[in-house]
Amino acid sequence: MLIKNVIDTNRVNFVQDSVVEIKKDEKKVILKNGELTYDYLVIGLGFESNTFGIKGLAENAFAIRSVNTARKIREHIEYKFASYNTDPNAKESDLTIVVGGAGLSGIEFLGELVNRIPQLCREYDIDPQRVKIVDVEGAPRVLPPFDPELAQYAHDMLESKGVQFKLDTFLKEASPEGVKVQKKGSEELEEIKAGTIVWTGGVKASHIPEQSGFETNRGKVPVNSDLRAPDDDHVFVVGDCALVMDKSSDRPYPPSAQIAIQQSYTAAKNLKHLLNNEPTEDFVYKPKGTVASLGHSDAIGVVFDKKLREHLLRR
Ligand SMILES: Cc1cc2nc3c(=O)[nH]c(=O)nc-3n(C[C@H](O)[C@H](O)[C@H](O)COP(=O)(O)OP(=O)(O)OC[C@H]3O[C@@H](n4cnc5c(N)ncnc54)[C@H](O)[C@@H]3O)c2cc1C
Repeated sequence: MLIKNVIDTNRVNFVQDSVVEIKKDEKKVILKNGELTYDYLVIGLGFESNTFGIKGLAENAFAIRSVNTARKIREHIEYKFASYNTDPNAKESDLTIVVGGAGLSGIEFLGELVNRIPQLCREYDIDPQRVKIVDVEGAPRVLPPFDPELAQYAHDMLESKGVQFKLDTFLKEASPEGVKVQKKGSEELEEIKAGTIVWTGGVKASHIPEQSGFETNRGKVPVNSDLRAPDDDHVFVVGDCALVMDKSSDRPYPPSAQIAIQQSYTAAKNLKHLLNNEPTEDFVYKPKGTVASLGHSDAIGVVFDKKLREHLLRR
């Protein structure tokens, strides 16, 4: 099993189970199939997809949460293309893919999609003109927190490969037939019939810390400077469940693997400090940059304050 291959099971007792609740007053973690007691606990339960209560989205849209969910999307799209010319009940809208959100996940997904679609069209003898890829984004531009010039580059590159962007537009409803969207300021709903809906519009922290009675801010634990929960000295919180403020912008750091990995080092060191009766260290985030891939051969990024675009990356 993969996890057992990367941890030393002589030193770590790895239990494969689901956390149901944390009983912090009793220092217990309740699992689906048992319970564990702890002296110190590190919460790293990660993220869940957030559909913001949009009608029908949880039931009818795919979310990208893991390799397996990404694989399901790939298989679903391939099935739609494979059956288009052979299934008498196939519809024109089977070749329409709607993507909700144009943040990093949405843009990277679109980048892969514009590479994959020509291959599928060749493989299943489909006229590429019949395929529609529509991205729906509530903000006025793609990649809202990214450098505007690089974001525009990503927008133009994807548009040139056939993606239709609907900016300033909100996804209001999803059904097995497609989606209904609404342009900002308009009363009218537009219906887009689609065979595939992929929601990349949001993630939230695991519901478990909040449900277990930890102090939270929008579901995340606003950790102390040493990454301990503000209301429990025996609990560290790292990754997407932790809220750490960026003092330069007065906004929380966005969730990323980069910050989660750096927090895990600080939490591990602080556990050691506590066991040795030493003072704990503060977590200091050192961002190394952000890169967004745009398919196989293109990318944008800001790395160590340098803007990078495809033509620079190829040098
Ligand atoms: C599509 C996508 C693309 C991304 N791309 C990037 C990127 O390029 N660069 C980057 O820095 N970040 C990226 N991120 C963000 C990054 O994946 C997360 O910020 C990071 O994984 C958070 O780490 P974590 O350890 O907090 O949580 P996770 O990596 O989510 O790990 C949490 C673990 O806890 C397990 N778990 C959850 N609930 C339970 C439970 N009840 N019981 C037991 N186990 C449980 C989960 O199965 C999972 O293994 C991306 C995210 C998405 C969705």
